[in-house]
Formats: sequence, C-alpha cells, structure tokens
Amino acid sequence: MRQTGPLTRSVTLRVLGRVLLAVLVFAALAYPASRMGVFEWPRAYDPLALPDLDARPNFLTDWQLRLAEVDPEGCAVALRRAGVDAHIRPDHGAGACVISGGVNLARLSRAGMRPEETRCVVAARLYLWERHVLQPAAIRIMGEPVSEILHFGSYSCRTIRGRSSMSQHSTANAFDISGFRLASGKTISLKADWAGNDAAARFLRAARDGLCDWFNVTLSPDYNADHADHFHVDMGWYRTCR
Ligand SMILES: [Zn+2]
Repeated sequence: MRQTGPLTRSVTLRVLGRVLLAVLVFAALAYPASRMGVFEWPRAYDPLALPDLDARPNFLTDWQLRLAEVDPEGCAVALRRAGVDAHIRPDHGAGACVISGGVNLARLSRAGMRPEETRCVVAARLYLWERHVLQPAAIRIMGEPVSEILHFGSYSCRTIRGRSSMSQHSTANAFDISGFRLASGKTISLKADWAGNDAAARFLRAARDGLCDWFNVTLSPDYNADHADHFHVDMGWYRTCR
C-alpha cells in the first residue's frame, strides 16, 4: 500500500493554500465590485442581501433571515418580491405585549389562510417552509397541494400555559398551525390525523420536521397534551424540535 509521504502532504497543503488564497482574493475584489453594480452577484449567495424566498434555500438563507429580522421593512420587501402582500404595521400593544415589525399575513406561496398579524420574520419563515417543504410534501404524499393553512393565530398577550413567563405569542413571535385544507377540499387536522401511519399522518410528520428546520422552537402532539391539536412554532431564544 502506498503511504502518503511528508513531501506529498506538503505539496497538497501548498496547493490548497493557493486555492484558498485565490478564492479570498476573488471575493475581496468581486464582492465590493458587485455592491457597486459592476456585475450582479447571485442574491442567494450574497450575505448582505435580503433572502430570495422563492430560491432554493442554501447555507446563507438563515443568515439573511436574521438580517431581515433587524430590518422589518426589508423583510416586507422580501415577502412582496415573493408575491405576498406584506406591509409593516406600526408597533402596537402595551407592556410585554408589543408587536414590532408585524404584517397582516393572508397567504404564502400557494396556500391562503385566515388573515393574521404576525412578525414579518415569522411570516418569511412560514413562507420558506410552505414553499419548499409543505407543498412538495403534500404533492408527494397526498397527491395534491395545500390550498389553506388552518391556524389558531399568532398574537395573544399571555404567559406560557402553567408558567409565569410570557409566551412568544405575546409579541406575535410565534404561530399555531392546526391543520391543512388540500386543493380537493379534504381537510387534514392534527387532532384527527396525527396518530397512526397513514398518508395524512406521514404528511403531518413531514410538515413538523420541516418546521423544525426553520424555527427555533417547534412543538407538536409528540411534545405534550397541550399541543395535541396544533404545531406551535416560535423564534424565541430557546431551541427545541419535538
Ligand atoms: Zn403556540
């Protein structure tokens, strides 16, 4: 068997070093040039750009969403570019229950919903999930797309059930999803369809797993009885997927 000698290793390291240097020099020159409009850097790979919600998500998408979180107007622009009629509402509420950067959300890429005010960044994450996870899973597993997201809302000025700390719902930084209506009119609800292993149950699990990719917290009927009839997602500090 051939051993990798010290010479081969040092040559490999030198080649790798040069490739890395070339990439850094290219990025150092090309990126500022693209910001000056000399050429167009792909938005999906631009760490300072707003996320393109219709583009296939990549390693930068979550970072771009975090920038959009501190720039609600930019977040609304990203949603409007994706065809969602989103406009930032003035901050409102009182005490621990102020909604900052809220939009009235009535539809995502394809599915509609009962209009609900939620933080723009929650809306953008719901969009990414619906566009890139939920609809493909619905077509793959149920044979038809989702036409409506059924939900219990986003904003509610209250504490976490059974505790004294405020819920992420008190700033509309959370969303509760109770089920889906498919294009044929068939309804899939967490309450009726979570248990078992039929197509509807598998579809709901795919929906839950996808939410975990986009939200800091995702709680499903697997978590506790309080969540037997809905998925809770939020963008608080805590991280869990259950
Ligand atoms: Zn909730």
